Amino acid sequence: MIIAIDGPAASGKGTLAKRIAAHFGLNHLDTGALYRAVARDLLSRGLKLDDVWAAVTAARVLDSRTLDDPALRGRTAGEAASIVAKIPEVRSALLKFQRDFAARPPGAVLDGRDIGTVICPQADVKIFVTAGPEERARRRSTELNAAGIAISFEEVLEQVIMRDKRDSEREIAPSKPAADADLLDTTHLGIDASFKAAVDLIAAKTGLAGRSSHVRRAH
Ligand code: C5P
Repeated sequence: MIIAIDGPAASGKGTLAKRIAAHFGLNHLDTGALYRAVARDLLSRGLKLDDVWAAVTAARVLDSRTLDDPALRGRTAGEAASIVAKIPEVRSALLKFQRDFAARPPGAVLDGRDIGTVICPQADVKIFVTAGPEERARRRSTELNAAGIAISFEEVLEQVIMRDKRDSEREIAPSKPAADADLLDTTHLGIDASFKAAVDLIAAKTGLAGRSSHVRRAH
């Protein structure tokens, strides 16, 4: 079983994907960490994020054992990741790793931007998690403030909007729901309600239970 969870920055898709994987006993891959790690490896060597040759090399030699590095969760890492993620050769260098991960038994939950559209178009279930930009900025700024990082809501909102724009307007694998994805709008849902809606949907798609009213067809 392959479950694709896509969605914009700070939509809650990562937390959701992790819980879904644990619930169904599947492997979990946060694919954003791959792009974050490529950016980290470039910056730590003093290289530029738009240095195509260096970025592709970093993607090809990426050590997947370093994906748990807490530095990848940093505030600027997501921004840096979205710059290297625009390079087509970086995306192709990371493709096989993601597909091999998905194919490994007993199956996997992958979260990202292009899982349902490019990486696993054959996924059994595709969920596109959305939330309004203000709500995502509110969640992210609360999280950052709680971690002792002084940043205003307005500044976070600006970053969220900028990253949405870069990810959805890029030429290669833009962030968008697959034609056969279901949308899960979490703007007015807490994490438990979002999780329940996703579990209901997965259960319905795989023949186990009823659907949730929070979910509607993307197209
Ligand atoms: O999901 P996360 O915020 O960790 O992703 C960081 C960046 O990596 C995104 O803004 C996006 O540019 C890129 N990304 C991507 N494709 C994916 C996952 C992440 O382009 N499947």
